[in-house]
Amino acid sequence: MSASSASPIVNSSTQEQPLPEIAIPPLLGASLDELTAWVVSQGQAAYRGKQLHDWIYNKGVRSLADISSFPKQWRTELGDIPIGRSTEHYRSVASDGTIKYLLRLSDGQIVETVGIPTENRLTVCVSTQVGCPMACDFCATGKGGFKRNLTRTEIVDQVLTVQEDFQRRVSNIVFMGMGEPLLNLDHVLGALHSINKDIGIGQRNLTVSTVGIRNRIRQFAQNNLQVTLAVSLHAPNQKLREQIIPSARSYPIEDLLAECREYVEITGRRATFEYILLAGVNDLPEHALELSRRLRGFQSHVNLIPYNPISEVDYQRPKPERINNFVKVLKQQHIAVSVRYSRGLEADAACGQLRVNKIK
Ligand code: SAH
Repeated sequence: MSASSASPIVNSSTQEQPLPEIAIPPLLGASLDELTAWVVSQGQAAYRGKQLHDWIYNKGVRSLADISSFPKQWRTELGDIPIGRSTEHYRSVASDGTIKYLLRLSDGQIVETVGIPTENRLTVCVSTQVGCPMACDFCATGKGGFKRNLTRTEIVDQVLTVQEDFQRRVSNIVFMGMGEPLLNLDHVLGALHSINKDIGIGQRNLTVSTVGIRNRIRQFAQNNLQVTLAVSLHAPNQKLREQIIPSARSYPIEDLLAECREYVEITGRRATFEYILLAGVNDLPEHALELSRRLRGFQSHVNLIPYNPISEVDYQRPKPERINNFVKVLKQQHIAVSVRYSRGLEADAACGQLRVNKIK
């Protein structure tokens, strides 16, 4: 349709009587203090802030118009103001109970979130960006390019969405969905704060995963959080690492590990290193030995992730024997190690399989 033939949709009554402009913060993701300040700025009693907080975080309200405990006149004045929730675009359930969601954001962008249930836990894998600019060779998200950062509101929304769908409290969050969290540090910190204080999930149950961005690990550490930092190392040396992670060329492994050491010093917490196992690429006993030497004396934990296949590249997942052998070498070298078999494989919801262009 050409611009001239498009008739603008105008609500004549709104045109004649424009409503006073209301400065509305993004309500979802806002703290009790921020919400209280906002209701007071609107001429309402301070206790309405607590009500608003409860409606947003416990009752799952989507529009201010639906808050029945607010005075009718104020609700009418406010009109249908969304608080920042996404809408479900697609939902896919894997046989292990893992559910992948594609969520539609207010500007039409789609983002992915995964809910991973076990008997005692409900973990949400949240995205921090639409797409990802890091372009790691083995990761589906990077193949689709980068669109934009997510806001604090959009990150917190993912947690509430999974919580409501499972009708169960979320216990753990991993920032391991689409995107590179440390490239969106302000919104990630805001979201961590809200998830901890407003939704009520303990900081120790929150994990932020990064491929490593120069100076940002230090910056993250300086926030005095008890959140776990997981660093996607994936290789025991610079040559191999830059082969599979393009950003490693400008941020060498020595610099990355030096910053991780600072992280341990500043926070007093150990660092987790993620290491994807790619058959014949980085999964040989000599790689395990080299990795152990690098991490000697480092307060760390290695999380091995057997590669989850994606269609664009022909990496293979190592055979179980190879994986076990890698573990054995690390253990012999007194490196704390665990193997993480991703869940949700057949829903394309496992680590590295999230992508926007697979939207059904
Ligand atoms: N940008 C962050 C979060 C990414 S996803 C980071 O790089 O850490 C979380 C983890 O899944 C990362 O360790 C990532 O390297 C890993 N991953 C990516 N693609 C994968 C694949 N195909 N199979 C298994 N793990 C993968």
